[in-house]
Amino acid sequence: MAAITMKKIVKRYGDGFPAVNEVSLDVRDGEFMILVGPSGCGKSTLLRMIVGLEDITSGEMLIGGKVVNKVAPRQRNLSMVFQNYALYPHLTVFENIAFPLRLAKTPDDEVQRRVKETAELLELTEHLDRKPANLSGGQRQRVAMGRAIVRQADAFLFDEPLSNLDAKLRGQMRTEISRLQRRLGVTTVYVTHDQTEAMTLGDRVAVLRKGVLQQVGSPRELYEEPVNLFVAGFIGSPSMNFLPASVDGASLDTPLGRFELRDDRKAAALGGREVVLVGVRPEHFEDASLISEEKKAKGATVHARVDVTEWLGNEQYAYVPYEAPADLSAQLRDLSRELDGDQLRTQAIVALDAASTIKPGGESELWIDTAKVHLFDPATGENLT
Ligand code: ATP
Repeated sequence: MAAITMKKIVKRYGDGFPAVNEVSLDVRDGEFMILVGPSGCGKSTLLRMIVGLEDITSGEMLIGGKVVNKVAPRQRNLSMVFQNYALYPHLTVFENIAFPLRLAKTPDDEVQRRVKETAELLELTEHLDRKPANLSGGQRQRVAMGRAIVRQADAFLFDEPLSNLDAKLRGQMRTEISRLQRRLGVTTVYVTHDQTEAMTLGDRVAVLRKGVLQQVGSPRELYEEPVNLFVAGFIGSPSMNFLPASVDGASLDTPLGRFELRDDRKAAALGGREVVLVGVRPEHFEDASLISEEKKAKGATVHARVDVTEWLGNEQYAYVPYEAPADLSAQLRDLSRELDGDQLRTQAIVALDAASTIKPGGESELWIDTAKVHLFDPATGENLT
């Protein structure tokens, strides 16, 4: 087992913009670390530098306390599981798992023992004589993991291993990977662009954007205390609403209505500002008609015109279109583009209890849990709260 330490790691391809820009990150011994971010943010490049498949332009990479910048991939004793499994179609499951041991000229009795142990752990014992073509997607995935595990490497590295699977299988495999990692307690770095995987799998999550590390923290920290607009918009599904607002004392004038911030710390964060973006997660809205007067008094009630509702059984989403003020719309458009166009909509998404009878058309009363809103600087994206 080994800790992985990155010190100001930079990767430049040619003379271009750095694909990875001064990333410093500590993956503790036995920790499950997720690298997440949108396409092109540099997460695969960073993973490939850990494994040694990519040269490091500057900075230091340490594995188990030793600098490995110049150490060949094979000598790093790491195991990588790729997106496309990379199984050998002509070999049986047994030989696919045994492959790294055969390469290392491991004696046959040890190969037999270790492959059988690994197969048992992954519930593949019955399938050892099959070829990959005769396995389901999930079984193939387990074989690929088996090959990584059998070597008893110091760390596992996963590059989007589940992206080729359908949604149901992805869910199952997520649980399996999580269970297996806990059982083996091996240091793991896992790359994904999927925030659900990021939130459910890891001990900690590192969010990257354009090669720059934005925030590292537990899933809960990222959800509750995002450092900026980007992390706030990336983590959580449906994503956080960002309402442009003009500030008047502790009062916010938003496209959904005007409301006060009762929390002194949040109100203080508004100090001297004219405009902010108010971040409200869909789940921090409620149908005002369903809550007590006492609770109502702790937040803000706004009147909104819902134009579409989606009923999901356990909850429902309501969509509230609005117009952003003209002076903010160019800025919002730029931000929106960067956040994959989904975050800075001109509509708010509201998650309501399944019991809510709010219908499209007409005015509805929505309650906002103002203690949970975030305030962002629209120019820098910094979280002010
Ligand atoms: P994805 O999820 O799409 O794989 P990513 O976050 O893993 O994206 P990387 O593949 O690490 O991103 O790429 C980061 C940046 O480096 C991108 O702008 C990409 O175009 C660039 N890049 C990656 N590999 C090379 C290469 N071999 N030569 C030149 N540029 C590259």
